[in-house]
Amino acid sequence: MQHEPDAYQEIRDAVRDLCAQYPDEYFRRIDEQRGYPEEFVDALTKAGWMAALIPQDYGGSGLSMAEASVIMEEINRSGGNSGACHGQMYVMNAIVRSGSEAQKRQYLPKIAAGELRIQAMGVTEPTTGSDTTKLKTQAVRKDGRWVINGQKVWISRVQHSDMMILLARTTPLADVQKKSEGLSCFLIDLKQAVGHGLTVRPILNMVNHETNELFFDHLEIPEENLLGPEGKGFKTLLDGLNAERTLIAAECIGDGYWFIDRAVKYANERVVFSRKIGQNQGVQFPIAEAYIELEAANLMRWEACRKIDAHQNAGAQANMAKHLAAKASWEAANVCLQTHGGFGFACEYDIERKFRETRLYQVAPISTNMIFSYVAEHVLGLPRSY
Ligand SMILES: Cc1cc2nc3c(=O)[nH]c(=O)nc-3n(C[C@H](O)[C@H](O)[C@H](O)COP(=O)(O)OP(=O)(O)OC[C@H]3O[C@@H](n4cnc5c(N)ncnc54)[C@H](O)[C@@H]3O)c2cc1C
Repeated sequence: MQHEPDAYQEIRDAVRDLCAQYPDEYFRRIDEQRGYPEEFVDALTKAGWMAALIPQDYGGSGLSMAEASVIMEEINRSGGNSGACHGQMYVMNAIVRSGSEAQKRQYLPKIAAGELRIQAMGVTEPTTGSDTTKLKTQAVRKDGRWVINGQKVWISRVQHSDMMILLARTTPLADVQKKSEGLSCFLIDLKQAVGHGLTVRPILNMVNHETNELFFDHLEIPEENLLGPEGKGFKTLLDGLNAERTLIAAECIGDGYWFIDRAVKYANERVVFSRKIGQNQGVQFPIAEAYIELEAANLMRWEACRKIDAHQNAGAQANMAKHLAAKASWEAANVCLQTHGGFGFACEYDIERKFRETRLYQVAPISTNMIFSYVAEHVLGLPRSY
């Protein structure tokens, strides 16, 4: 599939060159071994791509959201999986936006240099799920330290991070006026915490995605590890979520193009009943439809980037972009699998792997119904449903 060069061609070419050194076989092997693409993530970090959104004053490259999103798109478009490392690009956004000057100086240059990995964010809990403000993990101030107790689930990349951002309740729900108040964000030094109040239990799952249950039992952290104002952690977190959703939308767009490329190539090659299968409208129309939906989703992705880069509220566009892109990539995945017939199920074609990987984005980092709910309430003015 030919695409007209866009304003980001230089970034695209550079990321593509790097990704070309990590072909399908590399990611297939990592998937089979349920491993982590260490070499690939190291190469991305060394090349500076993971520091795209860190301001230049703190050692990063200070790129725009549009440029950063192109990096993620190209990784997935090359057949790779940004899920292994996308947290490094956006988790630190909470430090950029809400950290004290001392925290920014302490952490951002090290993240930019690749000396510190902060790609884990602990929000979801087993008993409260999407109902984030009801979360039960508590942080209590004691003798100049914070003492943390509670449990988290599905917390990704903990084993491949040095630090994690944690959301915990610091004022009981009963004592706050708004349920989103009384939550606070903390920086957790994972190397110090594990075995000293933090237990990590990996969760085997459908995707090769390192994700874990976390158990906090009187974990003590320094007082200065509070990130952003006490009691305003929900806002600290939300500030970074539009970036997360927009970057994941771009990853889905990358996946979608990968699926369409593969489907078109195979439909042009495979001959059954003495003609190319792509000659049948029953085969070509679903590919064309998936492509149309992908292109439309991509427009919303650029709109979300534009609003974030203009420092405007991008809540609606980031959520809608993530929804449209996750849906379009999944439809493209389904069409690609169907076009390949039985061969789509063979691991060596990589389609079943990418199929599993792209499916995640309708559930994480926010499930589709929660996006509908956001748009219904905040964009359309319909009554709050929960
Ligand atoms: C591989 C993976 C990695 C993840 N990584 C992280 C991570 O790094 N950090 C982190 O904090 N979390 C992470 N998550 C968690 C993820 O964000 C949650 O799974 C997701 O937000 C949904 O929460 P839940 O699983 O508790 O589902 P639930 O909240 O139990 O919801 C189950 C279903 O019911 C629907 N539903 C619930 N309430 C309503 C309602 N009122 N109206 C309509 N529908 C409703 C939901 O949309 C969903 O489809 C990860 C999850 C996965 C699977």
